Amino acid sequence: EREQAAAQADQPATTLDGRTIDVLVNVGAVRDAADARGADGSGLVRTEVLFGDRRTAPTVAEQVERFRAVADALRGKPITIRTWDIGGDKPLPFLPQDHEANPFLGERGLRVFRRRPQLLRDQLEAIRQIAAETPVHVMFPMVTTADEVEWALDELGSRPDGLEVGIMVEVPAAALRVETLAVGLDFVSIGTNDLTQYTTAADRTNSAVAALADGLDPAVLRLIDRVVRKAGVRVAVCGDLASDPQSAVLLAALGVQELSAVGPQIPLVKALLRQTDLTKVPDVLNARDAAEVRQLVRR
Ligand code: PEP
Ligand code: MG
Repeated sequence: EREQAAAQADQPATTLDGRTIDVLVNVGAVRDAADARGADGSGLVRTEVLFGDRRTAPTVAEQVERFRAVADALRGKPITIRTWDIGGDKPLPFLPQDHEANPFLGERGLRVFRRRPQLLRDQLEAIRQIAAETPVHVMFPMVTTADEVEWALDELGSRPDGLEVGIMVEVPAAALRVETLAVGLDFVSIGTNDLTQYTTAADRTNSAVAALADGLDPAVLRLIDRVVRKAGVRVAVCGDLASDPQSAVLLAALGVQELSAVGPQIPLVKALLRQTDLTKVPDVLNARDAAEVRQLVRR
């Protein structure tokens, strides 16, 4: 099955009812991009991982160079660069953080840079430069309020032609007011890992509560459904849910247009989408729990 899917990896993922879903790759290293079969681009470049080998902050030129390597490995298909997303489970050696009692609820993602904007400014400069060469999307992580979006767009400044701008939706408040946050943006990308952890109040790194932190919890799916209906812009999913073929089908049925998955899963996600009539996927939003969602989808 894997071999057959791999042979067709480069074909588009067009469903039986005629929708074509873009399936992209999540990148934490240039190798992820080089190894991805059938990726329609990258829907998530985790920059804090891409530069996680660095003891000191990369210069603008060094960032441009590595972004170029990612874009080249994907043969010039669009890459979605996420600005530094640190805090919580993600330390970065060149940006030490204060000790916090609840780091997942503290200065994470975009929040970190309100007090210390310089690293973000350098990164945005690198993103503007690479965007002049190759199709680039930029997105901001851990957005909660419209003020944060406004501030981030201010920091980005003038947008070169073709640079698409979006935010991640991974905080429940952002899902609940996405129509406000997405004004003036090109896309939103749902981070189901964090959206699940914050919706269920279950730490994504704590195995004792792993059963609670299930991305197929109907409470999470209701938020995703809301985002699709209200965003008014393109909706992508770049969390791990998009890497599981059956979940990916469900997301597409909810109206998600773009999925970004770990490389080895891309051919399998595309293969199942091709075999599916999305209009026949049952309604799962009223299911009792994630287990019932799984049963419904398997049918
Ligand atoms: C997510 O939260 O779903 C996501 C894609 O970001 P990360 O896993 O890097 O926090
Ligand atoms: Mg996240």
